[in-house]
Amino acid sequence: MKAQPTASHFVDGAYLEDKSGAAIDVVYPATGEVLARVHEATPAVIDRALASAARAQKDWAARPPVERARILRRAADMMRERNRDLSELETLDTGKPLQETLVADATSGADALEYFAGLAPTVTGETIPLGRDFVYTIREPLGVCVGIGAWNYPTQIACWKGAPALALGNAMVFKPSEVTPLSALKVAEILVEAGLPSGLYNVVQGRGAVGGALISDPRVAKVSLTGSVETGKKVYATAAAGMRHVTMELGGKSPLIVFDDADIEDAVGGAMLGNFYSSGQVCSNGTRVFVQKRIKEQFLARLKERTQAIRLGDPLDEATQMGPLVSEAQLEKVLSYVRKGQDEGARLITGGGRGPVNSGFYLEPTVFADVSDAMTIAREEIFGPVMAVLDFEDEEEVVTRANATEFGLSAGIFTRDLTRAHRVIARLQAGSCWINAYNLAPVEAPFGGVKLSGVGRENSKQAIEHYSQVKSIYVGMGAVEAPY
Ligand code: NAD
Repeated sequence: MKAQPTASHFVDGAYLEDKSGAAIDVVYPATGEVLARVHEATPAVIDRALASAARAQKDWAARPPVERARILRRAADMMRERNRDLSELETLDTGKPLQETLVADATSGADALEYFAGLAPTVTGETIPLGRDFVYTIREPLGVCVGIGAWNYPTQIACWKGAPALALGNAMVFKPSEVTPLSALKVAEILVEAGLPSGLYNVVQGRGAVGGALISDPRVAKVSLTGSVETGKKVYATAAAGMRHVTMELGGKSPLIVFDDADIEDAVGGAMLGNFYSSGQVCSNGTRVFVQKRIKEQFLARLKERTQAIRLGDPLDEATQMGPLVSEAQLEKVLSYVRKGQDEGARLITGGGRGPVNSGFYLEPTVFADVSDAMTIAREEIFGPVMAVLDFEDEEEVVTRANATEFGLSAGIFTRDLTRAHRVIARLQAGSCWINAYNLAPVEAPFGGVKLSGVGRENSKQAIEHYSQVKSIYVGMGAVEAPY
């Protein structure tokens, strides 16, 4: 098979196979062809992964941060050198066009490795003077961390979780999504080639139950999940039983607000980027596009024109701008939302069909206008290339409506009035926001949601909080004054 990995799992520094676990077929979304087959981790594989992680972590934590950093930086360089191969694999695994994977997947993973390599040696504690005595604090690693990934950015997620964990002296056992199991194995391979000691970054395959088994194990200190809200609730509950630390990067239904003084070309571009990149399979997408009434028809006309010019096709052709959805199940789910949009009375501006490609899980980029807040397509996360355009009269109204959702991952505003931009952003309930831009997520910036969209933040200095804990040490400098 075209993309068959050396083995299903990567445990204790080497590939590991155990075919007694249930098979998982890896399908190329552009054709439906089976590319590879991996097997779910059995309890024995899970145990080996956790045991090796627990053993390796102690020595790793004792190493000076600059030494840990050197290895991560080397891995980042290797990822960049192998970017084309990694991107092609990511394209096969996810169906995302090479045009995107070449710039947004392994490169983003390398950024995370580089950033956290730089951050590791800067982590310090504090000294708190108390007159005669004092307290000092140190940051300690958590121990064994579990990462559980979604299928939209497999390499990036494997690195966004692995890099800060390793930089701060933890070990990681990563379970990729069963839909895209291939690229995390490459990340593990590169880390070991870069000098990472065995056992510190393990990859085990499997569906939800394997994730559950990992989190339930008493050797685990933390879980970081990227996935849906529904899964987040289950993972959080399992983690709670063992009082594990959690980071939850979950779904959204984010507002993107276009005021009537905005640069229309920029706003249309931002809305397209925030709905069609990766065939719309991005958690932070601005899928509720609120456009101020005065410019609504002008905005829609330009949006339609530019959307219809998007090139759908073979994801391995670098000229292709949009590939298929990740799986047949996801296509069916998104198509059912398109039907709901039509049934509930939204106006279909463009798209909605399977497009010019005859095989695979393609859907044309789709725009609905005249969407009301009550419609299903304005309330539920679709996770496909379906944009809902809603119109509004004034600022007060749009802020209220933008916040009227249980999600709170992201928000965006297009306006030339920067005072208004900051005023409105301050009132929006969202963790990651953009003004006159959309969906840019550099590793330097904290990323994550409020409300049902998540707990904690990934990337930036915030990750220190999420992959280490403070020890507080009181130092007595004189006689102990005991009352007995
Ligand atoms: P999903 O929730 O179906 O699965 C995510 C991962 O959780 C998979 O690896 C899956 O095997 C695992 N899982 C499922 N049930 C589990 C359980 N009971 N215990 C432990 N693990 C379990 O999500 P998906 O369909 O892979 O990805 C799409 C979702 O992810 C969307 O909702 C999207 O918004 C979200 N997402 C969020 C971010 C973010 O950073 N906020 C990024 C990408 C995707």
